[in-house]
Amino acid sequence: MDVPFLSLRDINARHADELKAAAARVIDSGWYVLGQEVAAFEREFADYCGASHAVGVGNGLDALTLILRAYQELGALESGDEVIVPGNTFIASFLAITENRLVPVPVEPDPASFNLDPACVQAAIGPRTRAIMAVHLYGQLADMSALAELARQHNLLLIEDAAQAHGAMREGRKAGTFGHAAGFSFFPGKNLGALGDGGAVVTSDSVLAGRVAALRNYGSEVKYRHLNQGINSRLDEMQAALLRVKLKYLDEDTAQRRRIARHYREGICHPSILLPQVRQEESHAWHLFVVRCQRRDALQRHLQTRGVHSQVHYPVPPHRQPAYPDLHRLTLPLTEQLHDEVLSLPMSPALRDEDADRVIAACQSFECPA
Ligand SMILES: *Cc1c(COP(=O)(O)O)cnc(C)c1O
Repeated sequence: MDVPFLSLRDINARHADELKAAAARVIDSGWYVLGQEVAAFEREFADYCGASHAVGVGNGLDALTLILRAYQELGALESGDEVIVPGNTFIASFLAITENRLVPVPVEPDPASFNLDPACVQAAIGPRTRAIMAVHLYGQLADMSALAELARQHNLLLIEDAAQAHGAMREGRKAGTFGHAAGFSFFPGKNLGALGDGGAVVTSDSVLAGRVAALRNYGSEVKYRHLNQGINSRLDEMQAALLRVKLKYLDEDTAQRRRIARHYREGICHPSILLPQVRQEESHAWHLFVVRCQRRDALQRHLQTRGVHSQVHYPVPPHRQPAYPDLHRLTLPLTEQLHDEVLSLPMSPALRDEDADRVIAACQSFECPA
């Protein structure tokens, strides 16, 4: 049997009885949108993160979009303002910015962590800069103390794209509590995954939380009174009930991801395969285990012949996508190089030790073509 990249079936099968009971509770309740399950999940997830508020929304992209939208409604941002963002991220980080008619300013990453390099951020700050969007890429926290200091000095908003980093910690604080607000995704493949789409805005700013809660629901705080031209982007009761089950196991799952990552890092020792670097064990939630290889495509083909499935996150950076012709003039050499070299190995809390051993053996037997 092959080693899958990520088996959602295996992940959810571990809690099948509890998930089915939660689904039955929602079906029997007769209440499917913005009810008790969402309210309970919002409280539980805010408590888990250590923030005052979580607001459930339709997906991770909407979480990020609504944070920026709410700041515009509150007068902290206006269209044309610049938002500094890592060049090497999933396109959703950019889409949230441009959807709000804000201007993404992509910067190069720190090559060791793949995350924002505070020196590059500092160099990119100009008169129109109003916000920094930090992405905790692959599950590892960005250097939030340096970024928070920059944000404070320059009076910028600091927003976390925490879609890959549920539960990543530094000095007792969890992802989602380092900036002014954070966007989380509960897409099925994320570390805390629903059985459909879902997302949340996490913040300790009550005014922002209230505005996001209204914006996700037609701009309405009181039924049929509309403060803003909002949208419809709500976490539904079914997903909230399922997420409440899965949240109970998130720390256990993260511990298992860390075990697999440690196993890979101890077992893979190959001159052509660069392992991910970790500053602190607990600051990485290991959404993805990403190696670098100059002959990435050859490595991926080799793993495939050994029955090991891998993926590329991501093959083309946002500034090279057809969706962003205006950004094609930019050159970000390190970002572009990373997109040519990265390869994600199988990673999941349902991965077994013998699967991880097969991944290691397959990597070790790679003969890198000259
Ligand atoms: C998944 C992801 C998102 C978007 O989340 P969705 O729920 O898929 O909309 C945003 N940013 C990053 C870094 C992601 O990995």
